Amino acid sequence: MLPEAGSLWLLKLLRDIQLAQFYWPILEELNVTRPEHFDFVKPEDLDSIGMGRPAQRRLSEALKRLRSGPKSKNWVYKILGGFAPEHKEPTLPSQGPPHLPEPEGGLKCLIPEGAVCRRELLGSGCFGVVHRGLWTLPSGKSVPVAVKSLRVGPEGPVGTELGDFLREVSVMMNLEHPHVLRLHGLVLGQPLQMVMELAPLGSLHARLTAPAPTPPLPVALLFLFLRQLAGAMAYLGARGLVHRDLATRNLLLASARTIKVADFGLVRPLSGARGRYVMGGPRPIPYAWCAPESLRHGAFSSASDMWMFGVTLWEMFSGGEEPWAGVPPYLILQRLEDRARLPRPPLCSRTLYSLALRCWAPHPADRPSFTHLEELLQEAWPSEGCCVRDVTEPGALRMEPGDPITVIEGSSSFHSPDSTIWKGQNGRTFKVGSFPASAVTLADSGGLPATRPVHRGTPARGDQHPGSIDGDRKKANLWDVPPARGQRRNVPLERMKGGTECAWSHPPGVPGSTGSHQGRCGFSHPEPQGRPALPLE
Ligand code: ATP
Repeated sequence: MLPEAGSLWLLKLLRDIQLAQFYWPILEELNVTRPEHFDFVKPEDLDSIGMGRPAQRRLSEALKRLRSGPKSKNWVYKILGGFAPEHKEPTLPSQGPPHLPEPEGGLKCLIPEGAVCRRELLGSGCFGVVHRGLWTLPSGKSVPVAVKSLRVGPEGPVGTELGDFLREVSVMMNLEHPHVLRLHGLVLGQPLQMVMELAPLGSLHARLTAPAPTPPLPVALLFLFLRQLAGAMAYLGARGLVHRDLATRNLLLASARTIKVADFGLVRPLSGARGRYVMGGPRPIPYAWCAPESLRHGAFSSASDMWMFGVTLWEMFSGGEEPWAGVPPYLILQRLEDRARLPRPPLCSRTLYSLALRCWAPHPADRPSFTHLEELLQEAWPSEGCCVRDVTEPGALRMEPGDPITVIEGSSSFHSPDSTIWKGQNGRTFKVGSFPASAVTLADSGGLPATRPVHRGTPARGDQHPGSIDGDRKKANLWDVPPARGQRRNVPLERMKGGTECAWSHPPGVPGSTGSHQGRCGFSHPEPQGRPALPLE
């Protein structure tokens, strides 16, 4: 392929320093088309295209010669630098200080306005609308992307919205993780646009609540998603960031088996010895997902993200149900402080529920850390098996020889080790129910019929009762909440739509209720009767 006229300067520059072999990678992978784009290229980016450190130093010197005078910073650079998270990407190791410019951020690229064309609307959030789009690289190659455009009113963007938008950019441009949505670049046009990796299958919440004939998500896949989420959250935590908006609506499906954490509009850097972020003003927060200390003091930390992880887990195993549906926001805190907890969903094993309860420990220090989470998930991981005979007994989960079976749990194993009734999901029909253990061989049992309990973890507190699998809901009583007036437990999916998102807004009857997704934007804290929930700073 011939070099493009507009980037001949790059080819010349690279030829002069015997690095012409990096012309296409720099152009196509790092999207550098103008000298100033190097301001946003980090050493790690050059590492990623295979350029060694000595070559990087040569490039840096050549760039200095090319661009005489002091480095000019454009306004976006300045704004984004101001919002950069405290923990920066690691700098070059022992080979001496890097000579390449090292901006606080590291935009992959600034994308020319004409290079992105927007297609259909994917959705809208607080400060922008998201379209499917196509990004044409300098080489002419087209990449499907998602384009988030800053919503602009008649008098231009509102201050907070612009701030939130740029904060989201500044956070995302520093992140690179297989389960974190990738920012490709920024279009400095009217409106400002974020060009992001496209998650073609939409949000996990939409998938969880998709009506028939879409089959429910298999339990084993939900576990895989939990592990991916734990990895992404450990990554954010290691960078000193708190997400503050973890929920299935903000997990996007990049493929049928891959989720990506998205929506970084509420992300904040942690600070101080206590590793907390305390809200600096009245801002909307997702009540039903929040830890008590966030609701009472506006305090967020990795531990409050862990609480939200527990609620997200609950959503996943409840088929996308709305947590605390029908409970007014000001009562949620009261319930939590009275030690009420979301009940165990039918698909959730005791071991996994006990993990959720640990995420919801009243004291933040008692919650697990994201780095420890993978191990805990491993303990709760369901066994896989294969059906060896027809099961047609009334009330039992129907299965045929060869059906893949995910064993959710051996129901009464804690009390009668010889129990032979297990609970599981048939991977062919996606139905869940109990079945004789003898009908299934476990994948790791060497082909022998299953006769032992399969879970290694500790049973959930309040859940250590003898009884049938079908009594699951009852057994959560100790931690369960009395359903609030009007609380929906098994709400038809159609009615659920928007309900989850209403958690951001005032419930019906509370002044200021919008009853829509836009609730978070127009939200001011509901006045709890006699109990201040969040400081109005
Ligand atoms: P808010 O920003 O107010 O928290 P939100 O997360 O719904 O709300 P956006 O992040 O603006 O708002 O997303 C709006 C919609 O676009 C969502 O429904 C989301 O699922 C979809 N969406 C966002 N980013 C992508 C993407 N990269 N790929 C596919 N769909 C996306």
